[in-house]
Amino acid sequence: SYTLGPKISNWDGSRQRWLRENRGFPNYIDGKPRILLVTGSQPSPCSNPIGDHYLLKSIKNKIDYCRLHNIEIVYNLAHLDHELSGYWSKLPLIRRLMLSHPEMEWIWWMDSDAFFTDMRFEIPISKYNSVRDEVKILTANLKGRPLFEADDQSALIYLLISRKDEWMDKVFLENSYYLHGFWVGLVDRYEEYIEQYSPGFGDERWPFVTHFVGCKPCGGYGDYSFERCLKSMERAFNFADNQVLKLYGFGHRGLLSPNVKRIRNDTSRPLEIRDEFNVRT
Ligand code: UDP
Ligand code: MN
Repeated sequence: SYTLGPKISNWDGSRQRWLRENRGFPNYIDGKPRILLVTGSQPSPCSNPIGDHYLLKSIKNKIDYCRLHNIEIVYNLAHLDHELSGYWSKLPLIRRLMLSHPEMEWIWWMDSDAFFTDMRFEIPISKYNSVRDEVKILTANLKGRPLFEADDQSALIYLLISRKDEWMDKVFLENSYYLHGFWVGLVDRYEEYIEQYSPGFGDERWPFVTHFVGCKPCGGYGDYSFERCLKSMERAFNFADNQVLKLYGFGHRGLLSPNVKRIRNDTSRPLEIRDEFNVRT
């Protein structure tokens, strides 16, 4: 049978020892757990060239979010294991990064087709420390899954269902904010959010992440029309990018426009107004 590598026992213990012996690699900085965001895409160019442009927008979006929240980021283009290509490639990668970066408290995978759309929201990370006592009920199941080759998400759900006793107390299924907001039903409502709310909620008032499940802009068969997907991704990107540009006094001319305009006048006392617009406050 296939394994990702040698079985490692007592990881928690050896990691704690490593951390004690390597004080130059702290797992907490300013009282906050270190987080490594991991994303990536296929090693070759997209079969549809516009897909590469959206990969660029998607990595810019993630760099911005991570910069604003002091999160480190890895972008991977390699298939580290020939047996596990395509979407399975995240598994050997995440294992490798966990083992190579014991200083990271959290390794956070995010798909290339998911955009941060709430640049202010932060994951309530302390909530996941008590995960062993406070297990969420698994509501998702495989019902209605279309017929296609085995994928990692379905495999995980299958494990959770078939070997619940073994796995369930190690898993927390988050549903109190949009860690993976399904783009259909969100992208047409950005104007509403802007009108009624402000960034920082991360939920149905202002989705933390908008994930373009079923779009495949890089190539392959998507479940939705290419035009609708691209237009929606453009809206998601600009909706998020406006929250970043606002820090610098700019904004997109519209949610479908790559062009920007000034949204406030330059001042001769720039340091005095800075905090008012800081996405971190
Ligand atoms: N991915 C990768 N390398 C690949 C193929 C996919 O790193 O060769 C990543 C990429 O970030 C993508 C995610 O795996 O968003 C999920 O892959 P999938 O093919 O399921 O694409 P999606 O459903 O996200 O369009
Ligand atoms: Mn995806």
